[in-house]
Amino acid sequence: MAFTYDENGQLTADGFLASELATEFGTPLYVYSAKGFTDYFTAFQKAVAPVNGKVHFAVKANSNLAILSLLGKLGAGADIVSGGEMMRALSAGIAAKDIVFSGVGKTDDEIRLALAKGVGQINAESIAEIKRIEAIASEWAIKAPVAIRVNPDIDAKSHEKISTGQKSTKFGIPIDNGDAEAIYDYIHHSDHLIARGLAVHIGSQLTDLSPFEHAYRKLISLAESFRQKGYDVPILDLGGGLGVDYHGDSEPDFASYGALVSRIFDGLDYQLGFEPGRSIAADNGMLLSSVLYTKSAEDKDFVIIDAAMNDLIRPTLYDAHHRIEPVTQSNRPRRISDVVGPVCETGDYLAKGRDFAEMESGEVLAVFSAGAYGSVMASHYNTRAHPAEILIHDDKVHVIKPRKSIEQLLEDEYNPFS
Ligand SMILES: *Cc1c(COP(=O)(O)O)cnc(C)c1O
Repeated sequence: MAFTYDENGQLTADGFLASELATEFGTPLYVYSAKGFTDYFTAFQKAVAPVNGKVHFAVKANSNLAILSLLGKLGAGADIVSGGEMMRALSAGIAAKDIVFSGVGKTDDEIRLALAKGVGQINAESIAEIKRIEAIASEWAIKAPVAIRVNPDIDAKSHEKISTGQKSTKFGIPIDNGDAEAIYDYIHHSDHLIARGLAVHIGSQLTDLSPFEHAYRKLISLAESFRQKGYDVPILDLGGGLGVDYHGDSEPDFASYGALVSRIFDGLDYQLGFEPGRSIAADNGMLLSSVLYTKSAEDKDFVIIDAAMNDLIRPTLYDAHHRIEPVTQSNRPRRISDVVGPVCETGDYLAKGRDFAEMESGEVLAVFSAGAYGSVMASHYNTRAHPAEILIHDDKVHVIKPRKSIEQLLEDEYNPFS
């Protein structure tokens, strides 16, 4: 674990005191551990090494340029879902050929950008999209490398807003009604498309491995049937989705996931791709926030902090649990408290009904496992600047996203009446 308490009950981040980081860089503050990212990413790579897996980090989980660059140097490719993420991955030094472009709604401009830069693979999700990619490739007299993302109709048993593998979701191409085969046949016969293979991604925050197994077995049986028909299927892209323990008791079990994959794909001849995001990033970031006030209501207390739903929306959006602790442990009396932000919404909370040591104004709290789907989902709601972001690397602290002043935020707009 990247963030641990020392013998004095002080939270530390790779040798730095969290309380001092909060004072020096201000709160709310995202703190990332380069060592943690490196350890987790390397553990994932090692887990899928027996099947020769190529790992494309899912940029949407944490897209800070420093993080992408760090992972790129460790050998990560990138799984992207927009032209903006393509620009980020390239700017971080990840080669275009190591980029997989996913997503259900790519615009013409995004497809052009990806093809112009030499993207490794576009995972298409509909016949309409395939035809747009083909038309653009044909305009330029090139061949576009495409895979199709199929919908295996499997329940990931995760939160409904992050489950993507069932028929009722917008994701992927159905298998059972013959659509996947018809589209692959179309690609096979096109002069401007190269068939690269099949992809699945059934959802995020999967804590049980069995949905992966079901999805991968469906994928294999489809791939084998395609090969029998004479289609090229070099790559199977197995998506991301491995969950983390938001209660902070354990690290993601990369080894079990790797063992599952090895067992399923043993003896089969495919290039395998992986797209983990959350499992690499979540535990290696935390959000530090200062207590503004506390107040008592009828049956509980409120701890009002300077971080809010605009800084970390997961609790509000997904009812997500994040472990929250004071950066200095204490023996003060405990209270049942809601940890809430200053934003004018009842949904603006980071935790509800927690058994929590009494806090005082100015004290700092750590919201753990905030390294994935945290800062990337920040908004300026209530005209609040995004939290600053720092990365601890080799005993140095780098400010990898400075906090903007409110003046800078206002400069983003143009007022024709002033
Ligand atoms: C979001 C996403 C991922 C990453 O999912 P995690 O749960 O963060 O590992 C991978 N692939 C695709 C296509 C995605 O949309």
